[in-house]
Formats: sequence, structure tokens, C-alpha cells
Amino acid sequence: MGAQQTFRLFINGEWVEPSKGGYAVVNPATEQVVGEAPEAGVDQVNDAAAAARDAFPAWSRTPPGERAEALQRLADVFERRIPDLVPLVQAETGATMRVAKTLQVTQCADRFRRYARLANENHDIPLPPSVMPNTALAKGGLIGAVVARQPVGVVACITPYNFPLTNMAGKVAPALAMGNTVVVKPAPQDPLAILRFAEAAEEAGLPPGVFNVVTGSGAEAGQALVEADIDMVSFTGSTPVGQRIAETAGRGMKRLLLELGGKGAGIVFDDADVAGAVAGIGSSWSFHSGQICTAPTRVIAHRDVHDELVDKLAAYAKFLKVGDPLADDTIVGPVITELQRDRVESLLDTGRQDGAEFVAGGVRPDLDSGFYVAPTLLTGVKNEWRVAQEEFFGPVVVVETFEDEDEAVALANGTPFGLYDYVWSADSVRAYRVARQLRSGNVGINTVQRNHEAPFGGFKLSGVGRDGGVFGLHAYSELQSIVFPS
Ligand code: NAD
Repeated sequence: MGAQQTFRLFINGEWVEPSKGGYAVVNPATEQVVGEAPEAGVDQVNDAAAAARDAFPAWSRTPPGERAEALQRLADVFERRIPDLVPLVQAETGATMRVAKTLQVTQCADRFRRYARLANENHDIPLPPSVMPNTALAKGGLIGAVVARQPVGVVACITPYNFPLTNMAGKVAPALAMGNTVVVKPAPQDPLAILRFAEAAEEAGLPPGVFNVVTGSGAEAGQALVEADIDMVSFTGSTPVGQRIAETAGRGMKRLLLELGGKGAGIVFDDADVAGAVAGIGSSWSFHSGQICTAPTRVIAHRDVHDELVDKLAAYAKFLKVGDPLADDTIVGPVITELQRDRVESLLDTGRQDGAEFVAGGVRPDLDSGFYVAPTLLTGVKNEWRVAQEEFFGPVVVVETFEDEDEAVALANGTPFGLYDYVWSADSVRAYRVARQLRSGNVGINTVQRNHEAPFGGFKLSGVGRDGGVFGLHAYSELQSIVFPS
């Protein structure tokens, strides 16, 4: 991946030189420069918002079938470009090839196809007529109504670094399908594939201003976008940034979809299929180096299964090969940056000081380059410790123990997060009963697999609103009641 590739901002259907130059995007495995990303000025962020504003009336009035065709075309063009995009997204994210080829890229195309299909359906809600008496306001009679779903307007899509294309698609595809126009602000660490995606949007013939991309190395571009003339912020990222965005957006009553941090509890009962639980929990290490918000990183094990579970988890962690993400046998690649590795290591230090036992990992892998963290397993953890309360966003699992169901539920609910929890038990009635008590937007019973038609989002500090399936489409709409005599 040569540094000679050029990347520019995509505003109003044109490629725009950034007013503040560029910054280096670094491969987390090799520490080599992948490319230079544009550094947008605040004026350019405002230009992008203005272009999306100007494009909104025509795009929102475009018949849904035509919008669907445009999204299909975009998916087709994008798919043709996948062979070129995989090396780029792999290099900037540090993902293993398996993750790069599947979740980083093909899921992006799937999301455009899914919402192209949904764009073609009528999402208005007819209501039965209501019998209204004569009132001082108006004559009585049968009064009908339809609830129309209207696009919100201009949507700022601000995305995190872990799955840049896929996350962007999860916002842009439903927003455009519903008739909104968008300004995308990718994560600073790996924005390059999204800029290449904009080429696909151009080739697919999206009208100018419907889809815009601005990038920057720090918080400035995102902050400016939230303050710009936009109607909604769809943000995925950390809870502290989400809180800041909500404060700013609240002043202008901008609509919010916030997908924030998680600290997934994985309750393992004594009748659980331990091998199944180990495979599920092990994904916290093996899947994109634990840089996933939904991972079951906080195991809550029944005391009778604790030792067997820990032995098997430790064996699993030690078996995972850490290193070059391009090597076929590598399971755990790097984390995104030196800063992220430092964050993980300093949180691990607090666990050490609190008295956690390191059953696996805890030592930086001895590799020539790259920002690596070994798959790490901490036991004897107390729920009030920082390692149990805060997100690592790296390949680290902590284990707590419980004696009865109520304690398991209390421990699982005992963090400020509520994104994705898990229950492993052979007793489906118990597992379901426990799931219903978890203050979490999503619960997996005996699986870490996802259902893409289900609504996805968080309770508590894990966010506001839901995306996923048709719920993702609805998230980008305002309900409008149209009332008439029937
Ligand atoms: P981050 O919060 O650091 O950054 C996310 C985005 O916000 C980036 O584009 C960043 O440039 C931008 N940003 C930073 N400051 C801003 C500001 N003041 N105003 C506007 N935008 C600003 O998150 P990250 O490190 O990229 O991603 C990791 C986090 O994302 C973790 O907390 C993880 O749990 C969360 N995440 C959540 C989900 C979910 O669906 N709930 C999915 C993936 C990641």
C-alpha cells in the first residue's frame, strides 16, 4: 500500500483539496504510513453540511423506488471495487485478512442492498378511523389519519475506527433510503477506504450533495459537524464523546442516534455447555483483537463452573497466535494505535494493583513492530474494580464469580453500560428469565451470533435509539400524523 495514493474531501459531488493539508494514516501492524488523509477546515465541514442541505429537497422527493435503484447501483459499483479496497482497509485497520475480507468489506455492500430493498417498501402506518364528537374546535364525525414517515433532513454520520466501512454503511444506507442526505465524518485512524467508497458513490451517480465525506485528525471536524446546520447526528463511538455530542446537539434539538460503549457481561451457569461458552467468550480475543463493543469481556461465572471455565479459557487464550495480520495463521492482530495499546496496558495495571490474577497474557508481545496486546485473562476480579467497570476495547477478558441467579443479575447490571450481555445455560427457561432482567439492549442466549434484522442499541450509558433491520430505517425518520375526515 503506497503512500503515493491521494485522498481528498468529497463535498457536493466534487473532490476538494483540504484547506488544512493532510495527516498520516499509519498501519497498526507495520507502523508504516498507509496514506495521507485530508485535514478539513471548519469552513469545509460547513460547506459539506450546506451541500447536503441544498440536496435534501430533491433527494427527499425522489420516488423511493429510484432511491432504491441508486443504492443498488452503489452496492454494485462498490462490490466491483472490493479487490482494491480489501488491502487498503486491512492496512489502515490492522485487521486480519479474514476480518478484512468479510466484516470490513462485504458487510458494507450487504447493508446497502438491505436498505435498497427496504427503501422500496411503504413504511407509513394507517390508523383506524376515530369517532370524534362535535367540539368547540370542529364538527364531529369519522376522522381518519395516516402516520407518514418523513426523512429527518441532513444527517451527520460520525463513525468509529473498528469497522470503518461497515459502520458507515449501517448509517448511510438507511439514512439515504429514507430520503435524508448525509455528511460522513470517519474516524481519524482509518478514513481512507471511506474516501475510496465516495468514488463509488460518484460512479453510481448519486446526485451532488447527497453523500459527502469530511475527515480530520482530531476532534475538530466532528465537533464542527455537530454544530453545523444539520438535523440529526448518528454517532457510533465512545460514551464520553457521545455525551459531549448530546450536550451540543441538545441546544439545537438535533435528533440523536447514539451507539456507545459496552462492557458485555457473559453469565455462565453451572449447567452451561462450557466449550460453547469458551468459544463465545474467546471471540473477545480472536475477533478483531477485541475491538468490538458487543464482546462478552466480563465473565460472571457460577462458582461451581468457575475453575473448569477459567482453565479452558486460559488454554484457549494461549493457543491464539498473535502477530502479522497478513499471515494465514494469525488470529490476533494489533490494536489500532500506540495510544490505544497504552490505554489497555494502563487499565491492566489498575487490575494488577487491585490484586487480579493474570491467568493468561498481561505481557506485551515481543514483536518487531506494531501495537500488540496479548490475549489476557484476569480472574478474582471484583465488580467495583476499574477492570470490571471500564471498557478495554482490546483482547482482555475479566472473570467474576457468583453463587445465585439474583447475584448474577446484580453483577451483570452493575456497570454504567448496557449494550450486549450473554447468558450460557442448558436451562432455556432460566436463561430467558435472566435475559429479561438484564438492563441491556441486546442479550445473546448460548450464542454470540447476531441477528441483523433485530434492533441494536444500548440501555444506560451505552446509547440512545436503535439501528439494525427495519428499525435502522425508522431511526432516520420523523413521524408525521396526517389527519382527514373519512
Ligand atoms: P471515539 O469516541 O474516540 O471516536 C468516534 C468518532 O467520534 C470519531 O470519528 C472521532 O473523530 C469523533 N469525535 C471525537 N471527538 C468528537 C467530538 N467532540 N465531537 C464530534 N465527534 C467527535 O471512538 P473510537 O475510539 O473511534 O471507537 C471506540 C469506541 O466506540 C468504543 O467505546 C466502542 O465501544 C464504541 N463502539 C460502539 C459501537 C456500538 O454500536 N455501540 C460500535 C463500535 C464501537
